[in-house]
Amino acid sequence: MLKIRELKKYFPVKAGLGKGKEHVKALDGVSLEIQAGETFGLVGESGCGKSTLGYCVLRLIEPTAGEIFFQERNILTLDRGEMRRLRREIQMIFQDPASSLDPRMTVQQIVEEPFVIHRLHAKRERLEKVEELLKAVGMDVSATDKFPHQFSGGQRQRIGIARALALNPKLIVADEPVSALDVSIQAQIVNLMQELQARYGLTYLFISHGLPVVEHISDRIGVMYLGKLVETGTSAEVCRHPLHPYTQILLSSVPSPDPEQRPERQILAGEAPSPVNPPGGCRFHTRCPHAMERCKVEEPQEIRVSATHRVWCHLVEEASEGSAQIV
Ligand code: SF4
Repeated sequence: MLKIRELKKYFPVKAGLGKGKEHVKALDGVSLEIQAGETFGLVGESGCGKSTLGYCVLRLIEPTAGEIFFQERNILTLDRGEMRRLRREIQMIFQDPASSLDPRMTVQQIVEEPFVIHRLHAKRERLEKVEELLKAVGMDVSATDKFPHQFSGGQRQRIGIARALALNPKLIVADEPVSALDVSIQAQIVNLMQELQARYGLTYLFISHGLPVVEHISDRIGVMYLGKLVETGTSAEVCRHPLHPYTQILLSSVPSPDPEQRPERQILAGEAPSPVNPPGGCRFHTRCPHAMERCKVEEPQEIRVSATHRVWCHLVEEASEGSAQIV
């Protein structure tokens, strides 16, 4: 359904005295594919570029280079009118429902807004459709005349999901959809998203910094560090048999209910380097407990460990002794 090829997004920043123009390399050559009906989880620390990738897929920001194919069409070549029509098929759920819902609009106005923008349905029909959507996300239809501030965070996110579903999209980019919610509410929203996926045949790009929630909902996972993918695979491959040292460190900090299963806790040393001037070689080498000399100068190539498991790390390449395929 979605193919991303060598996607780059560089944001210009003011350079210091005497320096030329500098750029924040938010995305620096990311390639991935998402199949119809699956959930692809994108995980990594804040600032690793995962949300930038989501915004590029909707062209809410324009990539610097690369290609994005949605159902075989390169969306970066579409004009404004074509892109407007395509947005019926790709929708977004935002992180913070408190700021993504207009406080001056009623729930009816918020959920029917996509119909109004795309000039779909008469007023009476829109009313019925909004009621259907509210029921689908577990809200009472009496909510239509109320305003966002009259609801809890979880209910506001349900309203945001109802709006995202209005145009019957095929792909939903969910940017940290549960991060702003209480832990007890997070599970309800994730379960709702899974129910809606089964009911409407949705495909999700699920972006989050929380590995447990990504593991729970995703069929496949991509781990990002400083604008690049470092490991991708099925949920079980990445979370049960992580190979990249960064993935291993992320997983070691996740509490496990079974002490026998808990890996030894590893601490991620130091701050993430600046994306304006990322380290040469492997970008993770300044924080990696296994860094070798070659890691400082040689960028790791993609290693295919299995048909679905890919990792970018010299250590994995050396450990595989030729059994893994270097792309
Ligand atoms: Fe660590 Fe080297 Fe692998 Fe990078 S390439 S993750 S520095 S071992």
